[in-house]
Amino acid sequence: MTGIAHNLQHTRERIAAACAAAGRSTDGVTLLAVSKTFGAEDVREAHAAGQRAFGENYVQEALDKIAALADLRAGLEWHLIGPLQSNKTRVVAESFDWVHSVDRLKVAERLSVQRPESLPPLQVCLQVNVSGEASKSGVPPAEVAALAVQVARLPRLRLRGLMSIPEPAADVEAQRAPHRVLRALLDELRGQGLALDTLSMGMSADLEAAVAEGATIVRIGTAIFGGRTYPVRA
Ligand SMILES: *Cc1c(COP(=O)(O)O)cnc(C)c1O
Repeated sequence: MTGIAHNLQHTRERIAAACAAAGRSTDGVTLLAVSKTFGAEDVREAHAAGQRAFGENYVQEALDKIAALADLRAGLEWHLIGPLQSNKTRVVAESFDWVHSVDRLKVAERLSVQRPESLPPLQVCLQVNVSGEASKSGVPPAEVAALAVQVARLPRLRLRGLMSIPEPAADVEAQRAPHRVLRALLDELRGQGLALDTLSMGMSADLEAAVAEGATIVRIGTAIFGGRTYPVRA
């Protein structure tokens, strides 16, 4: 087994154990392998080990990888999880399956208009700023409901749920708190009649806390591909 295949297996075991502890089915949690800064060959290796969904932060880096892996395109799902500027929406609408980082109506509207008719609707999540830091992207919790109603109406998008990147915290209880906030927000939106099913939360360090609070997509980079070196390789 290669290093990546071994790490994937170990990550799947962590998810299964966390699901068992929470009394959840493992079918309810999708593993998104975050391949930012790693090359197309690493993604190919993960795909060969059964991984289908990949997360990327930087649009140009992702486009290069998507092109290099065009032969596998039908078997891959590409998720944008990094910040999205409005001047990059067209290429994103044309190349990705999911965007987790929608936090402004303008970006959502452009993605909807630019999503090609030949593709299914773009699956999107709203990124919520659960830690309240001015420097972080994401919608403030108080503004999520209004934005969700507007995004849910856009014809070429399918609003699936919420995403967050909480501040790192050392122990599981502290890690669970922001995930609980996101889950409560999702419940609130569902109570208002929005058909949402996705909580994108949890990374290598807080996967267990996120699954305990109801994550349906965990975004795992380091535990699968290893430590990242910056700057990003082109
Ligand atoms: C890099 C990144 C991840 C993966 O983080 P790891 O700690 O390496 O698992 C998940 N989500 C987002 C938004 C990221 O930028």
